[in-house]
Amino acid sequence: MSIGNLEALANDIAAAASPFRGYLNDLRQKYQPLQDGAVADYIPELALADPNDFGLCVATKAGQIFEAGDCDVLFTIQSISKAFIFGLALEDHGREYVLSKVGVEPTGEAFNSIVLDEATNRPYNPMVNAGAIATADLIEGANSAERLKRVLEMFRRYTGRELDINMPVFLSEKATGNRNRAMAYLMLNFGMVSEKIEETLDLYFQQCSLMVNARDLALMSATLANGGVNPVSGERALAETYVQDVISVMLTCGMYDASGEWCYRVGLPAKSGVGGGITATAPGKLGIGTYSPLLDAKGNSLRGIRVCEALSRDFGLHLFNAAPAVHDLEAWLQGGDDAARW
Ligand code: GLN
Repeated sequence: MSIGNLEALANDIAAAASPFRGYLNDLRQKYQPLQDGAVADYIPELALADPNDFGLCVATKAGQIFEAGDCDVLFTIQSISKAFIFGLALEDHGREYVLSKVGVEPTGEAFNSIVLDEATNRPYNPMVNAGAIATADLIEGANSAERLKRVLEMFRRYTGRELDINMPVFLSEKATGNRNRAMAYLMLNFGMVSEKIEETLDLYFQQCSLMVNARDLALMSATLANGGVNPVSGERALAETYVQDVISVMLTCGMYDASGEWCYRVGLPAKSGVGGGITATAPGKLGIGTYSPLLDAKGNSLRGIRVCEALSRDFGLHLFNAAPAVHDLEAWLQGGDDAARW
């Protein structure tokens, strides 16, 4: 057995023994009864999601994985893809050019609002639909197949597995996404995006239709927390220099018009999607992935919000936290004293 395998085995044993697993199960039980909110139905296929599904996963910088609930259920990544596509666009073109095409300013408006910064001739940020479409426009590739292949390859590096497109969701969104199409053509009118707009819209709908589970989302954020290197596979998913770009836009814009409130309460860079997923990163520490398709009025997963609030509070994960945490994360992960008391 190689040293790498031995380390992985040691991590697995530590993860199995850690009280963290029980803690996550308790969170799941506590928030499972929440029935407020609704499954998204503006993309008809999304209305088929099971409102009872609920999974939460934490992946640490050391590659330990803790799961509770439905962490194998696949759902579409939706807007969560936007943060990672922004990273790929930065790798393709560099910071200066990307920022000439899309800003980093929160809109305070809904994710699908039709607002553009006409003063700078850019959509406001890569996390709202307009900005995400302009960002998808920047993804390099000789043709549509090659561009999609590069996107799939990028997500494989973050998650450690090949993701598939949910074809019914893709077709459903392509057939009904007239608002996004209108936005794209408005941006074309202003010269904010290139002429290959239909191809880019397809790429955008495809990136949103990729199927992930809560574990994938935890690993994606753990990769960001680990400076762009997937902590399980050791593979680099994003150039180190752009990790902070992606994470900071997640913090300011990742939860749409709830981003300010989220920053105040949870204080972790995060991204949500109308499929019911949330990914959140605690830089230098861990990634969180949650799945529950019941959404609040702003399109964020209700149970997912509660889970992230609890984890942030109990382990002092808020970026600006300066007070002692309720539980010592490191001790828990290693099964130390604090763990024994629990
Ligand atoms: N594909 C969705 C849309 O364009 C993504 C929105 C979201 O997850 N908030 O409407």
